[in-house]
Amino acid sequence: MPNKAKRETETIIIAALNQYVFCPRRCALMFVEGNWSDNEHTAIGSLLHDHTDEPGYETDAGVTLLRALPLFSARYGLTGKADIVEVREGKHYAPVEYKKGRRRKWDNDDVQLCAQAFCLEEMFSVAVPEGFIYHAASKRRRKVIFDEQLRAETERTIEAVRTLLAKGEVPPAVLLPRCDGCSLRSICLPELTQIKARTELDHYGRSLWT
Ligand code: SF4
Repeated sequence: MPNKAKRETETIIIAALNQYVFCPRRCALMFVEGNWSDNEHTAIGSLLHDHTDEPGYETDAGVTLLRALPLFSARYGLTGKADIVEVREGKHYAPVEYKKGRRRKWDNDDVQLCAQAFCLEEMFSVAVPEGFIYHAASKRRRKVIFDEQLRAETERTIEAVRTLLAKGEVPPAVLLPRCDGCSLRSICLPELTQIKARTELDHYGRSLWT
């Protein structure tokens, strides 16, 4: 495990924010312990990203599309890559993130996109008021407004991830519906944590009567 002092200052990969909002344990399993595992969902997601992974740009009808643009923010200590950045009239920047499915119940994608906007604002000294999530399953894109609430949530998530990485610990599992689509389920084993918690509770209950 990298030493703690280094972890406290190291740059956060933007994708870690998405994972943290989805599940802090998943974020730690990936970015503290280095566990990666593909399931059907993540494999399709990777294939989709392959189409946007080639760096380059194209311009049509006054819109420039920057593909696989490297991102960074010194202010927030972030690094990553935008699938696409749309640039209109040479000055209006909007990040576009490709996702394989329909919109999820949880808004982890929005935090990831907002962090990309933080980077673009710093890199190009522009305001980035909105971005888009393209959902491949529905072939539609959803506009995400970077309002004060989402910006504040993104800042809180950055701090939470930084704290998580600095501690270098993996939080306990909480078995929830989101676990069904999690590619790390076979590593995480959330059912075991539930059984262990129940056993400890039973033990505690019994100890009250003896
Ligand atoms: S299986 Fe559930 S608790 Fe475990 S990492 Fe995935 S989402 Fe989190």
